[in-house]
Amino acid sequence: MTSSPWLVHKFGGTSVANADRIANVASILTNDHKGKTAVVVSAMSGVTDALLGLLESARTRQDGVYDQIDTLRKKHLDAIQALVPPDYRTELVAAIQADFHDIEDILRSVWITREYSPRTRDFVSGLGEVWSSRFLTARFRSQGIEAVWLDARQILVVEPTTSTPNILWEPSQKKMQDFLSSVNPDWMVITGFVAQTDDGIPTTLGRNGSDYSGSIFGKLLQAGSVTIWTDVDGVMSANPKQVPGAVVIPEMTYEEAVELAYFGAKVLHPSTMAPVMESGIPIYIRNTFNPSFPGTRIFTTSKTDNGSVVTGFSTIDKVALINVEGTGMMGVPGISARLFSALHEKSISVILISQASSEHSICFAVPENQANQAKKVAEHAFFSEIHHGKISSVTIEHHCSILAAVGESMSGKPGISAKFFGALGKAGVNIRAIAQGSSERNISVVIDADETTKALRAAHSGFYLSDQTLSVGLIGPGHVGTTLLNQIASESARLKSEFGIDIRIRGIISSKKMVLSNHGVNLSKWKHDLDQSETEPDLQSFIKHIHADYYPHSVLIDCTSSADIAGMYVDWLRAGIHVITPNKKANTAAYSYFEALRNEGKQIQKHFLYETTVGAGLPIIGTLRDLVQTGDQIIRIEGVLSGTLGYLFSSFNGKVPFSQLVKQARDFGYTEPDPRDDLSGMDVVRKVVILGREIGLKTEVVDIPVENLVPPSLRKGSIEEFLAGYSVSDEAMAARYEEAEKNGQVLRYVGVIDPTGQSRVELRTYPKDHAFARIQGSDNIVAFTTRRYEKQPLIVQGPGAGPEVTAAGAFADLLRLSAYLGGVL
Ligand code: ADP
Ligand code: ASP
Ligand code: MG
Repeated sequence: MTSSPWLVHKFGGTSVANADRIANVASILTNDHKGKTAVVVSAMSGVTDALLGLLESARTRQDGVYDQIDTLRKKHLDAIQALVPPDYRTELVAAIQADFHDIEDILRSVWITREYSPRTRDFVSGLGEVWSSRFLTARFRSQGIEAVWLDARQILVVEPTTSTPNILWEPSQKKMQDFLSSVNPDWMVITGFVAQTDDGIPTTLGRNGSDYSGSIFGKLLQAGSVTIWTDVDGVMSANPKQVPGAVVIPEMTYEEAVELAYFGAKVLHPSTMAPVMESGIPIYIRNTFNPSFPGTRIFTTSKTDNGSVVTGFSTIDKVALINVEGTGMMGVPGISARLFSALHEKSISVILISQASSEHSICFAVPENQANQAKKVAEHAFFSEIHHGKISSVTIEHHCSILAAVGESMSGKPGISAKFFGALGKAGVNIRAIAQGSSERNISVVIDADETTKALRAAHSGFYLSDQTLSVGLIGPGHVGTTLLNQIASESARLKSEFGIDIRIRGIISSKKMVLSNHGVNLSKWKHDLDQSETEPDLQSFIKHIHADYYPHSVLIDCTSSADIAGMYVDWLRAGIHVITPNKKANTAAYSYFEALRNEGKQIQKHFLYETTVGAGLPIIGTLRDLVQTGDQIIRIEGVLSGTLGYLFSSFNGKVPFSQLVKQARDFGYTEPDPRDDLSGMDVVRKVVILGREIGLKTEVVDIPVENLVPPSLRKGSIEEFLAGYSVSDEAMAARYEEAEKNGQVLRYVGVIDPTGQSRVELRTYPKDHAFARIQGSDNIVAFTTRRYEKQPLIVQGPGAGPEVTAAGAFADLLRLSAYLGGVL
């Protein structure tokens, strides 16, 4: 069979969309001419819809119907002008004009009678293929190629059904033979989509049916191959319009292709594979926009090894789920058989049946527009069971989609479903029903229609195809934000290649500007792009952009210190966005808010990460959490939690007055611009509250007694006034130092968390051999005294402030999030 000289090529609507594209088709075929060539063509793109639209417009008496006819006629006449030289035009133009006169007559009668029959619809909707195929024939002829035009309505005999018609092979084969022996062509251009019934009436193969025409003619001609030319590089792991990371599948089996097509991969009509499968004729899917690319080969076997057991994902939209429920169904034989034969009788296509092993319910999916009818059929079929209470309800869940994972090698491999459902679960997609086909080549789930793209992307990235993708928005590109962006910029390629973590910074917003990008801001020049951006900052549209449903996970990183922004975290989590922050405001707001944040996050599996709110990048909160989660009991947490105060007291030696030291530290940039923000102890109080809440204390900021190192008289007034007057404290401070020194002790400003007593913030003394005595510079140090670490506390020490370490801590939170979401680290 495969030695046949005929090669069949089918070109879809976008491949023949206009004169240029049709000319391109001719040159693809003439450049690579290998044998007898049969070309099956679709209508120019949009034409079938336009023809069907004309009928509807006439039926509903729309005023614009004549304008619509004129537009369509002009489109075709213009194409002739552009495509063929004058000598070849006359006959074509006459044929087109005649067809349009027929259409006008038909539309007039439809207008009057306000109806049209399926026959009329089939006749009119098939004309687009008649025209495009004639144009391509004329183009070949004008280039000296003796192409023969073959109207498939003369050859292809079918028996219409309520879905795809049955091919009557015998009469079709006979007509094909007769035609070939009378004409004996080397080149044929064949109308796709159209056929005739047994009694010679024009009909079609159904929407998207030209692919099927291609393979039918492949079989009739016993072709060596059928090449389906379209507008993408081949069959891809998912619809590239929905999943930008989708990849081309180089080879797949017929069965895989059938399954993907049946579950909505529009690139192929699901019936396409059947005619060529028996004869083992390979199908190639190739791109007219990229003709040198080899595309996808569909055959009995496939060597594709893309590292994943799933070959591809596809979706069916506009589906409804019908549930038939009742305890009386248990053990009653023949319930499903009765239901499905009743549905079959009414030509309702059941797309999927979910197998509930409990037998309390039968659940099946049908096209949305057949849902009400399906419900009635089910109620009718089980009239008696409903009457006797054996079946309690037949309900419809509208607005659903089906997502299918397809792969030849899924069969017999454990864990695939777990991975599939896990990926969907992590993306927060609610699964309403599950079906695994008996072939095990497919697992399908019914989901909410609004979540289709999100689910598709999550499933796709959950397997091998696109990596673990995080849609990230950064709020507040100040010191920490800028450093974080630069750190991500230098690590992102490595993270992607080594761990499959794909961090896309899809937006940056400051108080003055914002920059948004669909695939991710270019981090090598984000600052420039943000400066040049003309987009007014608008937090709501920023968040909407970051939380695009076609990204599996969205994250907002708040690098501001704004209480207003911190007040939005709960809403973000509720909306399904993960939150990472070095901003202490949320964790130190009223306890009820913090509690809401925690609970919301837990309930919907969204993460709120804030390691950097205490000790910057030091693992303080993480360590504490590990201790608590592993069942240790916290006796006391004590620490130098302010880098500034740590510095001041580790450098204070009684010689330089304390107020001088504060001024110097301020000049070095070690303090806040107003040093009272450090000396008041409030920053330490906040950290004490954060750590306290982490171990379950319902502490508020106002509950913590704090030793304010600023005397009351200097707490108001300007910074200068404070700096000038702060020497009033020097004597007392020097005295405390001397006293400590005398006792072999040092002064340290600490926060203490005492789960059974009073937490507090104050200046304390420690022996010179205590761990706190040894800290240097602006180090933080925290001692955890616990049941397990009772004699020797667990100590975490290191630099606890500064943009580099804070940003690194937030970066670590981002990677932690990725690990929680299934990333491999
Ligand atoms: P044609 O007009 O050539 O018949 P179609 O529009 O019918 O083209 O089919 C091609 C389109 O199918 C692509 O543009 C793509 O958006 C869509 N598509 C859906 N799923 C897939 C998939 N898995 N692989 C490739 N394309 C797909
Ligand atoms: N032109 C027809 C349609 O739009 C057939 C096809 O293009 O495959 O459905
Ligand atoms: Mg198509």
